[in-house]
Amino acid sequence: MKKPKILLIYTGGTIGMVKDADSGVLTAFDFDSLLERIPELRLLDCIIDTISFDEPIDSSNMNTESWENMAGIIEINYNDYDGFVVLHGSDTMSYSASVLSFMLEYLMKPVIFTGSQLPIGDLRTDAKENLITSIQLASLYEDDMPVIREVCLYFEYKLYRGNRTTKINAEHFEAFDSPNFPTLAESGVHLKINHEFLRKETFTEQLIVRTQLDTNIGVLKLFPGISEPLVKAILNTEGLRGLVIETYGSGNATTEDWFINLLSEAIKNGLYIINVTQCSGGSVIMGKYATSSQLKRIGVISGKDITTEAAVAKLMYLLGYNISHEEFQSYFEKSLRGELT
Ligand code: ASP
Repeated sequence: MKKPKILLIYTGGTIGMVKDADSGVLTAFDFDSLLERIPELRLLDCIIDTISFDEPIDSSNMNTESWENMAGIIEINYNDYDGFVVLHGSDTMSYSASVLSFMLEYLMKPVIFTGSQLPIGDLRTDAKENLITSIQLASLYEDDMPVIREVCLYFEYKLYRGNRTTKINAEHFEAFDSPNFPTLAESGVHLKINHEFLRKETFTEQLIVRTQLDTNIGVLKLFPGISEPLVKAILNTEGLRGLVIETYGSGNATTEDWFINLLSEAIKNGLYIINVTQCSGGSVIMGKYATSSQLKRIGVISGKDITTEAAVAKLMYLLGYNISHEEFQSYFEKSLRGELT
């Protein structure tokens, strides 16, 4: 069998930095010399090419243009490569992995996001393991088909479905979690693939890259004592088309009249409101308590067990389509890319 071809896409972030031995200053790594700098990569049984953003960015600066750029690179190179590894800052990696999962429709090849907590040039770096194993995972083939055919995130010995992840720690090497979906693979002495959790679609359609994302959205985290002027100000935001509300527990919120009336009025005026729990795990079940049945009655959409990151991504994605309110709700409440249960 021919060697798999993997394209490494460097977008920025800590992983691509090296410390200048004299000054100690972190500077961006020259990815063209990747194989010289990390000779271990030569031991992998695949062909690796690299491409870098013209100006690599800290992931706090990710935006729709960066996502279009990433998706565009994958689209142009889709037929020439067997898998893609996206090197990305960890801070917003879960957002980017979620957005890309929606943008890349009919994806039949692996797209694996990874990064690191310490720069690749650091003595104690976690970057090498993350990078090497991501490439190995992207190279896996069985019966002439890639084993992984979805957007994933690999970090600290675990492969996750990208749109199920969230960054949970700013210091630990184990920086990500997938609270509502099992890990897809684990790296120990052997690579253990949890085949039963991988997406197994066998599309015959060609990849379609959906770029029409609408950023006229917001996120509102509820807290006890939240004030009417604050909620009003957010709902009155010019151009606002969708709002994710992070509610308590299984999707509960204050039942005060002013709150329900404001939300109800906004929904009648066409705003999509998505209910997501602010708990790190578990699901919204509207109607379980009296404190959520009002939300259901006025037309709030259930995010079920979706993460806030994936809800933001899905909202931007679905708002890019000209669909009816009913269709929007039905698409949001069902899994399109394995993002909810
Ligand atoms: N601030 C960096 C970023 O997200 C952190 C990292 O690379 O992990 O770009």
